[in-house]
Amino acid sequence: MPFDEAAIRLSAFIAVFTAMALSEAAAPRRPRAYSRLTRWPGNLAIVTLNTVLVRVLIPATAVSLALIGAKRGWGVMNNLPVPSWSAIAGSVVLLDLAIYLQHVMFHAVPGFWRLHRMHHTDLDFDVTTGARFHPIEIVLSMLIKLGAVAALGTPAAGVLIFEVLLNATSMFNHGNLRLPGRLDRYLRWLVVTPDMHRVHHSIVVGETNSNFGFNLPWWDRLLGTYRDQPAAGHEGMIIGIEQFREARELRLDRMLLQPFRGPGGRYAITWRSPA
Ligand SMILES: [Zn+2]
Ligand SMILES: [Zn+2]
Repeated sequence: MPFDEAAIRLSAFIAVFTAMALSEAAAPRRPRAYSRLTRWPGNLAIVTLNTVLVRVLIPATAVSLALIGAKRGWGVMNNLPVPSWSAIAGSVVLLDLAIYLQHVMFHAVPGFWRLHRMHHTDLDFDVTTGARFHPIEIVLSMLIKLGAVAALGTPAAGVLIFEVLLNATSMFNHGNLRLPGRLDRYLRWLVVTPDMHRVHHSIVVGETNSNFGFNLPWWDRLLGTYRDQPAAGHEGMIIGIEQFREARELRLDRMLLQPFRGPGGRYAITWRSPA
């Protein structure tokens, strides 16, 4: 491999995480409902678990698969005479669209919602929420990403840029960070901001089912899922979903079992009327 993928990813993660944690402490958007000590051990444990699990279960990273694809001529971009810079830019945009569609699917299909709702059961919203996903969702989304990389024939550099960017923007847009209103309004045209994504973590069903983007904000605006602000305001809104609202649900063991406990809830877009 021409670059050390693991080192690039880990150092970017540490740098962005530290910057966000410090910014949150300096300019918080909302008072915390739970202390860091209550939430962070579970959230950080699940990130570590997910990282190890993906390494053990899936032998190829998306970047290594892109390198193999380039050698063997897999996928659309490896078979089109596109200049490399536009293939790199195109892959960042197309992979982002794939992640947006995947996120909508994880809300729409009841079985997938059971997995994804663990991301929504955090009772506060901060940088650690951005990496808090159920391991089965992480493995499934890795497989979907590998499929997208093979089918699109995205160049390895594009995949690496996309992954580092998505990791960074996910920590940024989950930040409990107060940005000046005008800056937020301008930034929202380029990247999903904390105030934009926080709407997605509202307990209100219609707000949960909006603002699905993690990185580029355009898909929500283009495809009709954009919502500007939460009805109750950022300080008045309730974070989380109606289920799993006790503090013990923030523990790793409880989080891992959440997909298999209780009813599906009325968030997923089902064709049946909710029970
Ligand atoms: Zn979601
Ligand atoms: Zn989120």
